[in-house]
Amino acid sequence: MSRYRLQPSPAQEAALLEHCGHARYVWNLAVEQHAHWQRGRASAPGFAEQCRQLTEARAACAWLAAGSVIVQQQALKDFHQAMANFFGQTHQRPTWRRRGRREGFRIVAVKASEVRRVSRKVGEVRIPKVGWVRFRWSRPMQQAKSFRVSRDAAGRWHVAFAVIPQPVPGPGTGAAVGVDRGVTVSAALSTGELLSVPPLSEAEKKRLVRLQRTLARAQRGSKRRGKVKAAIARLKAREGDRRRDWVEKTSTDLARRFDVITFEDLKISNMTRSAKGTLEAPGTNVRQKAGLNQGILAGGWGRLVTRTGHKAPGRVQLIDPRYTSQTCNVCKHIARESRKSQALFLCVACGHRDHADVNAAKNLRDTAAGHAVAARGGLPPGGPVNREPQRDLLLVG
Ligand SMILES: [Zn+2]
Repeated sequence: MSRYRLQPSPAQEAALLEHCGHARYVWNLAVEQHAHWQRGRASAPGFAEQCRQLTEARAACAWLAAGSVIVQQQALKDFHQAMANFFGQTHQRPTWRRRGRREGFRIVAVKASEVRRVSRKVGEVRIPKVGWVRFRWSRPMQQAKSFRVSRDAAGRWHVAFAVIPQPVPGPGTGAAVGVDRGVTVSAALSTGELLSVPPLSEAEKKRLVRLQRTLARAQRGSKRRGKVKAAIARLKAREGDRRRDWVEKTSTDLARRFDVITFEDLKISNMTRSAKGTLEAPGTNVRQKAGLNQGILAGGWGRLVTRTGHKAPGRVQLIDPRYTSQTCNVCKHIARESRKSQALFLCVACGHRDHADVNAAKNLRDTAAGHAVAARGGLPPGGPVNREPQRDLLLVG
């Protein structure tokens, strides 16, 4: 991932915050407009109409007009992408953005001359109305068409360049793998490998608990409270960094080792919704599922699928996941009772024993290979996806 630590001067930081404020303001306006929309009424304004309204708003409001039109338009564009994701059932409905939380903005139509290297470890990027802002040149850079500037909860600034990664060549042997998302492990491969996002260390967890205790005791608005909050945010940011690194390494590894990579086509938002009951087991295990959802989100599942698709274009398949966790990979018998626990699969028909997620991963792999899992009702396997990297949908940061 082409993400770099941005190092703005105090004056630049103020200007960046102003951009964030504009992006947030425009985004929230769009959220509000769409919130008023109801079934049966004329459709909510589309991107073109909102851009026209933005022009009007800029003419009427000096504060907005002083800002960058790219920043403001891209906020609208991001909102429409978020709505498309929502309708595509891969994401939650976009909601209000609050000050200080996941702040950021996007700049598009970036020219090669707008990014430069000033020394071995320092680069600079030109941000409209802000000027050249330094960043830590911590990894090689490819030319980018757009970038996103963001500020994390710990107050660190980053710039993420949207470059489509070079496709990673596969082994060319036809090697196929199924990848099942897990909870206790982040991903289980049909090879039997169990991969996990590195969690916080024991020492870090202890520190986090201690900090949270201190926070509970600290007086509201006190200086001490602010310090503790910042320390907690830093720890959480570290966890996020590790998750992103894990996704990058794992997706590259999968693209390099296998020619066909199969994931379950499991829309994260569907899962979130199904905590209240699923197709297979309505209304059961609600508490357990709530935890499961957290595990998936924390595991960066969606990002892993997306990045693998970028690195292995045309080689990633998404498969309908129904019954993959209940089907025995050896005898194909389907029974909910075969899944003894989170970790253990023990077939009630043939006695086959495997790690439950690995068994599911093998079913995914085999389904992709055409040996369809004998599902009740005969479910069609999902078609291949991500034939080409989708430039417009690439979201970084
Ligand atoms: Zn069996």
